[in-house]
Amino acid sequence: MEINIEYRHISGFEKFYKNTSGKTVALMYDVNTKPYALRIKEELTNHGCKILDVEYANEELIPSEDKCEYAYSIAQTADYVLAVGSGTLNDMAKSVATRHNIPSGVLATAPSMDGYCSKGSALMRSGFKVTDEVNTPSDILIDLAIVCNAPKLMIASGFGDIIGKYTCLTDWKMAQAVKGESVNEEAFALMEKARTACVDAFDGLTRYEDDAVAKLMDALITAGISMAICGNSRPASGSEHHQSHFLEMDFVRRGEKIPMHGLKVAIGTLVSMELYHYLKDNRIAFQGAEKVYDLVDEMPSIEKVKTMLEKMGCPVRFSELGVRKETMEEMLEKAYTVRDRYTVLTLIHELGLTEQTKPIIMNKYF
Ligand SMILES: [Zn+2]
Repeated sequence: MEINIEYRHISGFEKFYKNTSGKTVALMYDVNTKPYALRIKEELTNHGCKILDVEYANEELIPSEDKCEYAYSIAQTADYVLAVGSGTLNDMAKSVATRHNIPSGVLATAPSMDGYCSKGSALMRSGFKVTDEVNTPSDILIDLAIVCNAPKLMIASGFGDIIGKYTCLTDWKMAQAVKGESVNEEAFALMEKARTACVDAFDGLTRYEDDAVAKLMDALITAGISMAICGNSRPASGSEHHQSHFLEMDFVRRGEKIPMHGLKVAIGTLVSMELYHYLKDNRIAFQGAEKVYDLVDEMPSIEKVKTMLEKMGCPVRFSELGVRKETMEEMLEKAYTVRDRYTVLTLIHELGLTEQTKPIIMNKYF
């Protein structure tokens, strides 16, 4: 995977401008990201590019089929697709570029999620959320002056996604201890290091300082790189993400607005940590238990994680995100089924502890 990641002022993405010089670029943006799109459009035009505008007037862009078709038809004659945005626009651009078999890139506008260089594209098809396999982008362009100015809740969401790496990496090691699953040490170490660097920069992050936001952005991008190294999403997604996916399906079914990915993941992380502590504090016996207790000790305290999330402005109860009580209860029973992956949710289920732990979790996190 050869991805050009450039941290520069918008006028200074040298490698990108050199590679796209003289090409026809489909530029995808929405009403929120339009000011930045117009700026990079000017730069690209100066480099001899022809621009095909794919503009969405929506405040809340839903990546539905008709929205993708619109981009696909405009991009017919393009050599390159550039998204100006974060989650949705990034996913749509990867999808359009893959269908046309041309390269894509993104001018990141928010450090809000870890899908920048992932091979997945989350789209809506016939009312259902699907994840298509797509080509990874060729370029990720980051102007810190832009991402540091993203809405604070989007930055909080990105931080929540990175906090989730505590439990997803613990789930991976736990699955090794309990089920003998193999761990790709390179992917594991890469993700762990980037997460640690981001958490170490926490104080700066609360002040939205350039260096700290860059560490967050790095960690979000590293998630995709780690997944590419081991060929699956283990390094970036565990029980905290499964809870988020479960809730998301319910929001989609109800036709309600879906809360930001990282915000759901953040609370899922607290829930998963709580379950790990339940196992250890009650000395629950199972294959590999001693090793798992050690893994619990390696995580920061729940209180510390919760305080960090609160300082960033992340909600710490699912009810604050509009999750209904019954849905959260159902999530605790069934979220282990959303992916065929061994996590603390699976372990709790196998040990028959779901009903016992449910009131504790509901009390603290609903
Ligand atoms: Zn994520």
